Amino acid sequence: FPLQVENDFGLLKKSLKHYFGYDSFRPGQEEIIQATLQNQDVLVLMPTGGGKSLCFQLPALLKPGLTIVVSPLIALMQDQVQLLQDNGIAATFLNSSLSGAQARERTQDVVSGKIKLLYMAPERLLSDESLFSFLPQVKESVGISAFAVDEAHCVSEWGHDFRPEYRQLSHLRQQYPDVPVIALTATATERVREDIMRQLQLKEPFVHIGSFNRPNLYYEVRPKNRNSYREIVEQIRESQGSGIIYCLSRKKVEETASKLQLDGIRAVPYHAGMSTEDRAENQSRFIRDDVQVIVATVAFGMGINKPDVRFVIHHDLPRNIEGYYQESGRAGRDSEAAICTLYYSAGDIKTIEFLIGTKVDPTTGAPLEEEQRIANQQLRRVINYAEATECRRIIQLGYFGESFPGNCDGCDNCRYPKPVENWTVEAQKFLSCIGRFAQRDQSYGAGYTIDVLRGSKEKRILLNHHDKLTTYGIGKDHSKDEWRNLARSLLHQGFLEETTDGYPVLKLNDLSWEVLRGQRQVMIAIAPTRRDVSKATLQT
Ligand code: ADP
Ligand code: ZN
Repeated sequence: FPLQVENDFGLLKKSLKHYFGYDSFRPGQEEIIQATLQNQDVLVLMPTGGGKSLCFQLPALLKPGLTIVVSPLIALMQDQVQLLQDNGIAATFLNSSLSGAQARERTQDVVSGKIKLLYMAPERLLSDESLFSFLPQVKESVGISAFAVDEAHCVSEWGHDFRPEYRQLSHLRQQYPDVPVIALTATATERVREDIMRQLQLKEPFVHIGSFNRPNLYYEVRPKNRNSYREIVEQIRESQGSGIIYCLSRKKVEETASKLQLDGIRAVPYHAGMSTEDRAENQSRFIRDDVQVIVATVAFGMGINKPDVRFVIHHDLPRNIEGYYQESGRAGRDSEAAICTLYYSAGDIKTIEFLIGTKVDPTTGAPLEEEQRIANQQLRRVINYAEATECRRIIQLGYFGESFPGNCDGCDNCRYPKPVENWTVEAQKFLSCIGRFAQRDQSYGAGYTIDVLRGSKEKRILLNHHDKLTTYGIGKDHSKDEWRNLARSLLHQGFLEETTDGYPVLKLNDLSWEVLRGQRQVMIAIAPTRRDVSKATLQT
């Protein structure tokens, strides 16, 4: 068996060169392709640009039969197919942009075995009457070698781009249980990962999780205030390269684009309220460097491939870390240095909270409680990111379940570290308070824990008799903000877990116990707002 793998591998490398002209595989590709060739289900998590497409394209060429690629974006589909065809690879797509005659011709090509890769939008694959008989026909004539589900996070409400039509892809599994499924995404949170496996009913899949670190990106967070606009103008002028500015609302997009134009910067707006033609026009002007800056809502960017974006500025707070990672990740696809700046003000939190509150069922008008809860939780994570004093990469990558050692030298917190203090004693107080709750089978969030520590007389605390706990009132010497900073830092450093019980609650883990037993010191960076640096300060 090992010998065979070795032979396969030599063969794989040859075919990589033959079909795609590449000399070697990118990290993960060869293992994924091996698994696919052995008809195993596969889940691929790789950042954008990591080389996901090849993982199903090469097996599609090597296996008998047709590989069906499910892809959500028509524009993207066209580009991908074009690229393949330019390389002499038998690929085509079926979507609503084709005439009836064109579609018939293509289905003919597929059934007669002329095509190895067929790209389709999910709604077409599942609902189109004519296709209902088409798939069985393909299965009969040439066989289906695999279903490749691109942008697989679209099946998950926890992802940043949920598409209900993706949910129906499970029918494929039911109808064609023996056809392997390869699901691919650049989204890597554990929740989304589990959702994909469940929704697509992957059977003991081979899972590849690539590193999501983007070493060429510099991450920074700046306070949003009346100087921010000037800073942005300066940054654009200094950069000279192309950039994207993301705003939360269409109005803000329009305003900002006009202001920049008045300041002599070639900038155009992009949002879903514009006509399709205007949007396409502005997008293409940006891509061909006719304008320097595109000011956009999050509607912009999915499927846009402009490799030389030198900066991405978030004028407003993003709604979740995932979205921030994806949007900022549109910078520097060419691997050259690029800057990602996030402007942050407490006012943004209110705006987003308001928007979350407007998520209601369109027919009944009842609040979508589950969605609101998810959105609120995700917002807390963004706030944590914005206010963090640790390496930004620890937090971003931690969000994807990837541990990162810190000291990246490519974020504001690493370049300009804030003072660090030893807060082991405070951490012990905080953790033991959570431990006391746990002894009573209770768990609470940071806010409540801090109130208990600071001896609050709040009714809920008295009703719970938490004023009788030995940890009640032992933390009066620090402000709420200071305790919050500690809690955040404990979470980021893994000394504490956050789980949800309808709302986020804190739980102790093995590391918490090490801290409690005095086997570990807790060093935390002090948030800049804190004036009273009376404690012994360790400058880094
Ligand atoms: P993703 O879908 O993960 O965003 P792509 O599949 O579009 O990434 O690949 C990104 C780029 O890397 C493409 O230009 C692709 O041709 C290139 N690429 C993929 N695999 C290899 C490889 N083994 N060697 C060199 N270039 C590769
Ligand atoms: Zn860093």
